[in-house]
Parts: sequence; structure tokens; C-alpha cells
Amino acid sequence: MGSACLFFRQRLTALALDKRDQPSNFPAMSRDPHTPAPPAVTMSDADVAADVAADVAIVGGGLAGLTLACALGGAGVSTVVIDRDPPGAQLAGSFDGRTTAIAYGSAKVLEGAGIWAAVEPEAGPILDIRVTDQHDPLFLHYDHREVGDRPFGWIVENRVLRQALFQRLAALPTVTHLAPVAVTGLMRGADSARLTLADGRTVAARLVVGADGKKSLCRENAGIRLDGWSYGQHAIITNIEHEFSHGGVAVELFLPSGPFAMLPLTGNRTSIVWSERAEMAGWYLALPEERFTAELRTRVGDWLGQIRPIGPRAAYPLGLMHAERYIDRRLALVSEASHAMHPIAGQGLNVGIRDIAALAEVVVDALRLGLDPGAADVLERYQRWRRFDTVSLLATTDLLTRLFSNNIPPLAAARRLGMAAINGLPPLRPMKRLLMRHAMGIVGTLPRLVRGEPL
Ligand SMILES: Cc1cc2nc3c(=O)[nH]c(=O)nc-3n(C[C@H](O)[C@H](O)[C@H](O)COP(=O)(O)OP(=O)(O)OC[C@H]3O[C@@H](n4cnc5c(N)ncnc54)[C@H](O)[C@@H]3O)c2cc1C
Repeated sequence: MGSACLFFRQRLTALALDKRDQPSNFPAMSRDPHTPAPPAVTMSDADVAADVAADVAIVGGGLAGLTLACALGGAGVSTVVIDRDPPGAQLAGSFDGRTTAIAYGSAKVLEGAGIWAAVEPEAGPILDIRVTDQHDPLFLHYDHREVGDRPFGWIVENRVLRQALFQRLAALPTVTHLAPVAVTGLMRGADSARLTLADGRTVAARLVVGADGKKSLCRENAGIRLDGWSYGQHAIITNIEHEFSHGGVAVELFLPSGPFAMLPLTGNRTSIVWSERAEMAGWYLALPEERFTAELRTRVGDWLGQIRPIGPRAAYPLGLMHAERYIDRRLALVSEASHAMHPIAGQGLNVGIRDIAALAEVVVDALRLGLDPGAADVLERYQRWRRFDTVSLLATTDLLTRLFSNNIPPLAAARRLGMAAINGLPPLRPMKRLLMRHAMGIVGTLPRLVRGEPL
């Protein structure tokens, strides 16, 4: 696997350095901010026979698919989003006990998609980030005041995000939400695409978006190759209640078995993302409450006072995954259908949200000009826009995971010195500020939604 990893990392670097992938080389589409919403769906005669017709059909109504549906629906685009899981089950605490670090730029996208107002009261702001190597006192400290008065981001329970997304969808007249029903077939022609659902219904659209996660049917349908590997780690997730306030501080503790993150939720609650060797994760998960709490306490330390685990525990296998292309005929892939990374930097969904902001923008721009949203040049604009950001983050999270998940003495000494230098040396302050802006998701050529502008 070592040579495969090296090969892919070289490819990642080559892609990251390829200036042709940057959006600035694209002819800018002119846009009048007062342009009315795109016209209602315009399907060809061949689509009349379908049970449902829309300009955009989104396969997968997870966090990414639902966010895209809300963004497009808010701009008046006729959209259908299809998911195989029942909406009621997706809101149950046992469905997904995870939390997500929503970067500042992603919150802007959620605001533009009409979701943030419902999420913010239940989101814990991240005011400080502290990175520590095995409880070493030389830690890297990011204070949000060094880059302005805005939080770096917020920690939100996935359940809260889903609730807000479902509520918003219900209020959007141009969006149809079909769930629970699986997409079982996909045919993509020159002018339109057709989906077959497990209950026999058909959906016609000019553009199909694969937001159907790591085992994407859409990606497989297009024969898009996947690169990637496992880190041999699982993320154990749980939440804790504690005696003292966390003060909005997010802590990343690097341990030899993997990073251990403490992320500030609302109130005296903290979300734990504990990366552990895969072979040990099941053992920790099965521990009785008292033993599990004791294991947590040795890692958390005493800065939060008494701690008590709350809510479900679960474990997720961790790896890196990257699709060789994000587009095919009348198809665009977003979020985990095209890329997945280690949660070491809390960036997986944030990259997916930037996919959504970029794709929604190219689709809406095309429709406003009376163009076909599934045309090859529209999709190529999306792919080129997204590749640089995605590949950079895949390479960064891969490097961090490998650098920090070990106890090799020269590496440990080098990374501690590196952290201390970035933290304390004045010449490295611009680099520190850049890293903070990366954490906020506001680096590069940003889509309108990330900039806080309407679509
Ligand atoms: C432990 C952990 C912590 C994380 N923390 C963070 C974080 O702090 N910040 C961050 O940005 N990211 C984080 N991530 C990453 C983030 O959780 C994922 O990027 C995100 O959940 C991906 O969402 P998605 O909608 O792309 O995919 P999914 O959640 O997999 O959704 C895909 C959907 O498609 C549906 N589907 C699939 N196939 C079909 C079909 N044939 N027909 C109909 N429906 C179908 C599925 O039912 C599902 O609902 C974390 C990940 C892990 C594992």
C-alpha cells in the first residue's frame, strides 16, 4: 500500500499545483443581482412520460443533498431530492449521534440556503482552537480575535442540521422530496437523464447530482474510478456533560493512536471525536459506563471538571477517498460521493458545502441565461472550480494524520518545535493567520454563497 499512497500523494500534489484547475481561468458569467429567479422546469417532450420532472434531480438526501436542495429551491430552481431513509428515522438520536464543525464560510452557505437561523441558537461557537501534542505544554493556540470578531465556526449536532433542513425543504414550492425510496437505476442521454426508483416510479431531469455518499450509485453508473486508502483507525464519537464551562475552546490532542478532539457544544456540553486504532475501537465502545468514563477522563484531563458521557456512542472507520472526476454526462458528484477525508481538521462536510455553493452557482447562472444546467461546459466549470480546494484539503489532512498518529521520537520532536514556531515566532504570524482563515473556510475563489451574497 505504501507505494500506492506515495503515488496518490504525488498525484494530489500535481493536481493541487495545476493552475488550469483554478476558476479564475473561466470566462466569468455576467450577473445582474436583480435578475429574477430562473424559469420553471423546461423538459423535452421525451420527459413528459416520467412520473416526476425537474431541472435538477439530487440522489441522496443526507446533509449534502438536502443543503443543495435548499440552496437551489431558494433560488426557484425546480429540484427533486430522493433518499432511501425515512425522514423520521433520520431525525432519531440513534441514527447519527455525530456533530459537525461548521466553518464560518459554511455557515454563510447555510444562511443563504435559509437554514442557519434555525441552527444558530443550537450551535456552539468556536472561539479558540488549541492543538496539543500528547499533553505537551507547547501548544498551538488560535484565538478568533487574531482574524476579526467572528467565531472560527460552530459545533452543531447533525440531528439539529437535519431538522432545520427538513423544515426549510417543506417551505420551498419548487422542491419535491421523495423519501423513503431508493434510486435503483440511472440512464443519462444527450438531452436529459432518467432515474428509476425502487417503487417503479421514474424521475426525469436535465442534471443529476450524486449526493449519495461513499458508495455512490451515481459514481458507479458513470464508471468513475476511486483512489483512496484506510488509516486503520476508527473515530469513536460521543458527547459529554461537564462541570466547568469550555469557554468556546476546541481542543485537538494528538495521541499516538490518533487525534482526540473536544469540540464545544452549547451549554456545558462537549462533543468527543476520538480516533483510535481500528482493532481497539470495538473494545472501547463495549466498555461499561464507568470504565468508559474513566478512559475519557484520562484523555480529557481536568480542565472541564467532572465529566459524564451523554447520548449514544458509535464508531466510524476512517479513510481517504477521491474520485478521479466529479462530473460525467449530465452528472455532477458532490461531497462524499466524490471525496472523503479524516476528520482530523473537521473539514469533510465543509468541503462538501463548498461543492454545493459552487454547483448551485453554476446551475443558477446557466438557468438565468436560458442555458442547459446539465451541459458539459457548465459541469466542467464546476469541476475545475472545486478540484484545487478539495485536493489541497485531502493532501493536508492526509499529511497531518500520518505526521501526528505516531510516537516516532524525531517526528514527535519536529512537530512540537513546528507547532511552537508557528505559535510564537513573529515572522510566521502571516502563516498562522492563513491557517486560521483555512479553518474558517474562507480561502481561495469563493462562491457567492460563501461570501454571504445571494445566489
Ligand atoms: C466521526 C466523523 C466526524 C466528522 N466530523 C466532521 C466535522 O466536524 N466537520 C465536517 O465538515 N465534516 C465532518 N465529518 C464528515 C461528514 O460527516 C461527512 O462529510 C458528511 O456526513 C457527508 O454527507 P453526505 O450527505 O455527502 O453523505 P451521506 O451522509 O453518506 O449521505 C448520503 C445519503 O444518500 C442516500 N443514498 C445513498 N444511495 C442512495 C440511493 N441509491 N437511493 C437513495 N438514496 C441513497 C443515503 O441514504 C444518505 O442519506 C465527519 C465524519 C466522521 C466520520
